Amino acid sequence: MDVVQERERVYIFDTTLRDGEQSPGCSMTVPEKLRMAQKLAELGVDILEAGFPIASEGDYQAVRLISTELPWVRVAALARACRLDVERAASALEPARLSRIHTFIATSDIHLKYKLRKSRQQVLEEACAAVELARQFTDDVEFSAEDATRTDPAFLEEVVRATIDAGAGTVNIPDTVGYSTPDEFGDLIAHLVTVAAGRAVHYHALEAPRYLDSLSALREATRKTKQREIWMIEPSDRHTLDWVQGLPALLDIELRFFRNPLFLADLDDFARWAGSVRSPLMETFYRRMRREYGVLMDGREPVGGAWNLDKQNRKRLPRGLVPPPVPRFKPDAVTAQAVAAVDRLFADHPGRAEGLDLPVTRADARSALRRFVRDRLPAFGDYEDAMAVGQPTLFHSLLSPALNVGLLAPMECIRAAEAAYRGGAVPLNAAEGFIRQILGWREYVRGIYRTFMPAYRGRNALAAAHPLPDFYWDGRTDMYCLRQVVSQVVDMGWSHHIQRLMVLCNFATLAGLSPQAVNDWFLSMYVDAHDWVVTPNVIGMGLWADGGTMATKPYISSAAYLHRMGDYCESCRFRHDQRVGDDACPFNHLFWTFLDAHRGRLSANPRMSMMLRNLERIPAAELAEMRNASRKFLKDLPRGSYPAWAGGLKATRPS
Ligand SMILES: Cc1cc2nc3c(=O)[nH]c(=O)nc-3n(C[C@H](O)[C@H](O)[C@H](O)COP(=O)(O)OP(=O)(O)OC[C@H]3O[C@@H](n4cnc5c(N)ncnc54)[C@H](O)[C@@H]3O)c2cc1C
Ligand code: SF4
Repeated sequence: MDVVQERERVYIFDTTLRDGEQSPGCSMTVPEKLRMAQKLAELGVDILEAGFPIASEGDYQAVRLISTELPWVRVAALARACRLDVERAASALEPARLSRIHTFIATSDIHLKYKLRKSRQQVLEEACAAVELARQFTDDVEFSAEDATRTDPAFLEEVVRATIDAGAGTVNIPDTVGYSTPDEFGDLIAHLVTVAAGRAVHYHALEAPRYLDSLSALREATRKTKQREIWMIEPSDRHTLDWVQGLPALLDIELRFFRNPLFLADLDDFARWAGSVRSPLMETFYRRMRREYGVLMDGREPVGGAWNLDKQNRKRLPRGLVPPPVPRFKPDAVTAQAVAAVDRLFADHPGRAEGLDLPVTRADARSALRRFVRDRLPAFGDYEDAMAVGQPTLFHSLLSPALNVGLLAPMECIRAAEAAYRGGAVPLNAAEGFIRQILGWREYVRGIYRTFMPAYRGRNALAAAHPLPDFYWDGRTDMYCLRQVVSQVVDMGWSHHIQRLMVLCNFATLAGLSPQAVNDWFLSMYVDAHDWVVTPNVIGMGLWADGGTMATKPYISSAAYLHRMGDYCESCRFRHDQRVGDDACPFNHLFWTFLDAHRGRLSANPRMSMMLRNLERIPAAELAEMRNASRKFLKDLPRGSYPAWAGGLKATRPS
């Protein structure tokens, strides 16, 4: 595949000779300016702003002299957006081989009213006229919108577009009075970059009949715009990638892929590494990533001396400890419309769209990250594996939905956590635990997916074939842990990792549920679900259906683990400490029956030896009783009513 890596060149534009000399005690004579210019040129400055020629004879002479003496450097001269200034700048730059005229005018309403006493229209016209005039003297014109950050965004956009059209090759967006925060400023620049690139964004409502199928939508868009190329980031999901790769033949267009910024690891590197080792373990990969990106490192060694503090992530939530609330974001008008459309279009699906309070804008997502780092990250490490009735989110970040649609970049989350640790606000087991999830697990599962798909989805190492019980859709079961977690998923479309792994998947593995049915269920029920992340987590980590590619042993447990890590058992009709009898917790007899059934295969695995030794200690009669209980339990499980809509979804996913 042709993946284009964008290489961006940063140009150093230096204003020491203009702004710099305004510092007290720094005013320079013309020869001193030349000496300073020579030093700056030696440092590799690309563009030297040598002065403001209209401001004084000294500035004029300095620009002229530097233009003459340093012909290999691009010299810039400042000019207000008016004829006199631009012509004076052009005259000073006359000897320069490489020149730039930098013209500016204020664009904020406050400057327009009190300083310039001009209307927006006047300012717009003067800005464009100055740029056009400057272009008569040089090919390189820069325009600055003074006080840009206090400017009405729509007007700023108009000014940026108009000055580019007039001939400005560089547009400067200064935060003249220090008004903007770094995040706001970053978002403004990101937005203006798309404006500058001249891209128009067209939104299509999902409900518009002709857009219900993507091919028709694309066909219409290419017809209307007459574009023969589609540029896109490389899709993460295999079926989307296959689909888009078929587009050139269907639409007579060319496709160009860019590296997917939702991830850090290079897929080809990952595949090479995975193919070169006996088992592509997450831990090995994670250490490589820590080194490669210099995250939580002291030179070549991990900060604190250990790579992985997993053992410090296993505390039970103490009674009375109430985690800080997760921020809720009020839906804006567009989100409210989308919620109403989802309710209309998918009325027969489980769950509900109403009450959606996740971040859906970049600003909200950044705020969610900030508040997570401030409020919940400090205890994230301690209680990462805990479960508690009535506390669905605990100290988890709930950032996966935002990360998976690109509202947050993985590295900004990682750096935020690292900075909090280095600033002393969070302990190492919290920062490392959180970073491991994103830099380690998230990147790793995507690499596994892309390396081993499409065969991976169909793997079934334990030959599990039981249909999905009905309670996975509505939570109606006496098993309190499952009832709690499924109800939470129906309500929120989300549960935390240990609920996914040690409640939902643990049960599915022990009960021998079909891996593909469980995979489809996860894909259907979660707000953060995408094929690239669900399939390896379910087929590999959750159900061990890949036979150990991802996990060295199945993640299974009896009720003992669930009782140790949470308080569900306290409200359950079953007894977590009984293996046989009417009240015995099904996790117990299913667990021992599972080990017994698969002991042949699992005995080769040294990590299973302790469990298998414990199995040997169980009296034969008790084991037989557990086998019977499991058989009856599975026979009685309500099964098979795979909802019609879910069947429909399945049919759209190629296997
Ligand atoms: C069976 C199963 C299904 C899963 N399905 C999904 C899914 O549909 N979408 C999804 O994003 N994650 C999935 N995960 C991984 C993980 O459970 C979720 O990412 C996490 O629970 C999301 O909640 P959070 O944002 O609060 O995560 P936190 O606990 O705060 O962790 C921080 C971030 O680390 C990343 N992360 C952590 N673990 C994993 C992992 N195993 N794989 C990939 N990323 C990880 C996520 O981006 C997450 O936002 C699944 C795990 C299992 C075992
Ligand atoms: S007793 Fe068993 S079924 Fe009930 S909550 Fe505990 S682990 Fe779950």
